[in-house]
Amino acid sequence: MNADLVIVGSGLFGLTIAEQAATELGLKVALLDRRHHIGGNAYSENEERTGIEVHRYGAHLFHTSNERVWEYVNRFTGFTNYTHRVYTNHNGIVYPMPINLGTINQFFNAAYSPAEAKALIQEQAGELAGTDPKNLNDKGISLIGRPLYEAFIKHYTAKQWQTDPADLPASIISRLPVRYNYDNRYFNDKYEGLPVDGYTAWLERMAAHPNIEVHLNTDFFEEGHEYSRSKVIGQVPVIYTGPVDRYFDYAEGDLSWRTIDLEEEVLEMEDFQGCSVMNYPDATYPYTRIHEFRHFHPERDYTKDATVIHREYSRFAEKGDEPYYPINTGADRDMLLKYRDLAAGEQNVLFGGRLGTYKYLDMHMAIGAALSMFDNKLRPHFEKGQQIASGGIDA
Ligand code: UDP
Repeated sequence: MNADLVIVGSGLFGLTIAEQAATELGLKVALLDRRHHIGGNAYSENEERTGIEVHRYGAHLFHTSNERVWEYVNRFTGFTNYTHRVYTNHNGIVYPMPINLGTINQFFNAAYSPAEAKALIQEQAGELAGTDPKNLNDKGISLIGRPLYEAFIKHYTAKQWQTDPADLPASIISRLPVRYNYDNRYFNDKYEGLPVDGYTAWLERMAAHPNIEVHLNTDFFEEGHEYSRSKVIGQVPVIYTGPVDRYFDYAEGDLSWRTIDLEEEVLEMEDFQGCSVMNYPDATYPYTRIHEFRHFHPERDYTKDATVIHREYSRFAEKGDEPYYPINTGADRDMLLKYRDLAAGEQNVLFGGRLGTYKYLDMHMAIGAALSMFDNKLRPHFEKGQQIASGGIDA
């Protein structure tokens, strides 16, 4: 084997480790992916007929407040000044998301000041006053009151997660800010933008170091190539970013995941919906949202004759489906603890990324976690011979 380090999975976590190991330590890296391309779910390509860049595994919006991550990603790509804004179609009327003063006033047909709106929501959230909401249902009601929760969150969440919101962790909804002003930016982060020449160009630059050998269509768990599990484990350190339950042959059971189906349509018109993402929070629509990709790059000179949309449907992942989002019910969390124990016992194997840690990581979080793992575990190992004590899955 001609590698000092084997990385299973070429998503942003794996790519960051590969790039750092090659550039900083001069290591020879074998980067495996069972797909035909690198980049994991951040991969994009230009739709054939229109040339419009389409995110093949769901829309990816880059944002971060982490200075180190921002400096790091800018080594590989420039970013446009795209600012993500989302709208939502409830009962045939379009409102701005996330919930802000514009949404509240439109919903209640009113002109409340910030203080008046706060007082109203507080009153409507009063049924949960003084409690510490642990699940998504209670957290939602306590944040915005029952009427707004039922209009914009309840059915959307049920469609997206197919799990009773009372069984989902409150943290999922903490991702969504509620604002008592007219700011309708989707993200709060200091930096935000889309890679100027597309995701794939960015990701390919990360893997371009001559010490990184990319092996596509290569499944770590299948025999017949030199980097299969049986040949690699025990020989060189392994960074594993696939599903953690898969690594242990599902010994403790199957962690539950949500997958999405994207229905692509090319429409012969310049503009279908006037924005990049329109949510559909009502139970009457089977999809959760529609993406229109031309709006992610208003600076590009795209054709005016056609536009590309994806309708996004959400469902439980079965074996063989792509796992996207950890569902994280109580049963999942118990199971994860057992997988963490197993992972802690693996010598010279580190687990990372969304699938490897069963965590809802955004791109910037995956990159940040990979930079930390590199600094705290891999650099000390390769420079000073320090043992790679897994310590289990990074918590
Ligand atoms: N959400 C909702 N209504 C919306 C948008 C989001 O109820 O119109 C909730 C839903 O539970 C979702 C969570 O907020 O899972 C996080 O949404 P986000 O858009 O951040 O999810 P992602 O884009 O990562 O799928």
